[in-house]
Amino acid sequence: MAKYVGAIDQGTTSTRFMVFDHAGTEVARHQLEHQQLLPRAGWVEHNPVEIWERTSAVVKTALGKSRLDASDLAAVGITNQRETTIVWDRHTGRPLHNAIVWQDTRTDAIAAALDRDGRGDVIRHRAGLPPATYFSGGKLQWILDNVRGAREAAERGDAIFGTPDTWVLWNLTGGPDGGVHVTDVTNASRTMLMDLETLDWDPELLDALRIPAAMLPEIRCSAEVYGTADGVLAGVPVASALGDQQAALFGQTCFQPGEAKCTYGTGSFLLLNTGASPVPSRHGLLTTVAYRIDGHPAVYALEGAIAVTGSLVQWLRDNLGLISTAPEVEELARTVDDNGGCYVVPAFSGLFAPHWRSDARGVIAGLTGYITKGHLARAVLEASAWQTREVVDAMNADSDVALRRLRVDGGMTGNTLLMQFLADVLDVPVVRSRITETTCLGAAYAAGLAVGFWPELGTLRAQWRSDAQWTPEMDPAHREQELRNWRKAVQRTLDWVE
Ligand code: ADP
Repeated sequence: MAKYVGAIDQGTTSTRFMVFDHAGTEVARHQLEHQQLLPRAGWVEHNPVEIWERTSAVVKTALGKSRLDASDLAAVGITNQRETTIVWDRHTGRPLHNAIVWQDTRTDAIAAALDRDGRGDVIRHRAGLPPATYFSGGKLQWILDNVRGAREAAERGDAIFGTPDTWVLWNLTGGPDGGVHVTDVTNASRTMLMDLETLDWDPELLDALRIPAAMLPEIRCSAEVYGTADGVLAGVPVASALGDQQAALFGQTCFQPGEAKCTYGTGSFLLLNTGASPVPSRHGLLTTVAYRIDGHPAVYALEGAIAVTGSLVQWLRDNLGLISTAPEVEELARTVDDNGGCYVVPAFSGLFAPHWRSDARGVIAGLTGYITKGHLARAVLEASAWQTREVVDAMNADSDVALRRLRVDGGMTGNTLLMQFLADVLDVPVVRSRITETTCLGAAYAAGLAVGFWPELGTLRAQWRSDAQWTPEMDPAHREQELRNWRKAVQRTLDWVE
């Protein structure tokens, strides 16, 4: 019997393949970057052909390095950068345009128009998302309106749409030669085109963005067998698809309502499991699907997206030159006992959740002659914690399941000063999982569940291990004072861009 499960993580900057054994321990991995194409200010594209080539290459190399064969794998799962939009010809497999990446803001005017005539409110209501350039629907409309012949080909069903999960899955299962054209509920919930209740494409939303139904993939569960792989993974069931942040929630085994994880990378994403029904947000969060296992109802989540966290540390390194590596920020911050009254609000391109203010720009508040680079380093770290606090406050206000502890992963969680401060300002324990690759692990877990490699969620939960935990130590009065100061600093970022 096959002893392992594989997972492809098609990410924004790179694609990786990992293999896990029954205990959830990594046995193989390989990773390759792809080009970031920046044709104009605000535009970000990827070449889908390059992405697929990289995907095949990482699978082949990872298996080869570990002397594994496709027959050693019980299943393979897929996790991916979300919202990135690809349209291709189903007969040739050729993309009609480069992938338009989630960060791309060319659809500004499309998003703004949705809010002018009431379509925006229908999207908020039914899809759980505020109209924004971030989501796939507007990007898809842009391709249909700007690539010659695209709309006609889409109406005939010759040109088809997919996010990277769909693109990889279609190619993996044969491409033009019988490739399966499906997406999962988590990826579909980021398009502005899916009804969160029916979990199907919504005719009124398709109409609002003028998207022909014939080009859309079928929406399926996150954990089920979609088809059998060809090529390097010949014969392996392809058995999961999950957006990257949802996969991390799954890998962190946050299966109960009230359980949450935050992934601290370039930006940070906090997802709270809210259970079997979607919770609409009145406080600036996104309502999204967390996962759906075949044969079970969907599980929903509230999501808070913070644009700038780890990238603020990079800014301290690359733009100010105060440190030479990201981890050095901790050493520098430890040269002082506190922030000295200084706060950094990194609204570099406006504020995301829960504010959603595109007119905001960053500030350093509370500067005096006393402030040193140590205080700045501390304020930089504290900014990630306070931004998390704002998202958690919004979540507690939106849902009646209050956060009791936070599971964390990602590059910044190596910073113990930050982790302690995070527990202090959230006033809940912060727990770091032993496995840092929660995204790949989540996709592998979902695929393994679908084929019976793991019998049930309880087995996965029992496998979860923490490697460190931080408990709140801050005096409540001090916390409140610091929170007031942070809020004052946030106020000073607003109304900057006219
Ligand atoms: P991503 O998956 O978004 O590329 P990672 O999870 O690899 O991100 O984390 C990288 C980010 O974390 C970078 O922005 C970096 O500045 C930050 N980072 C890495 N190590 C530390 C550290 N010890 N302290 C603070 N920030 C860190």
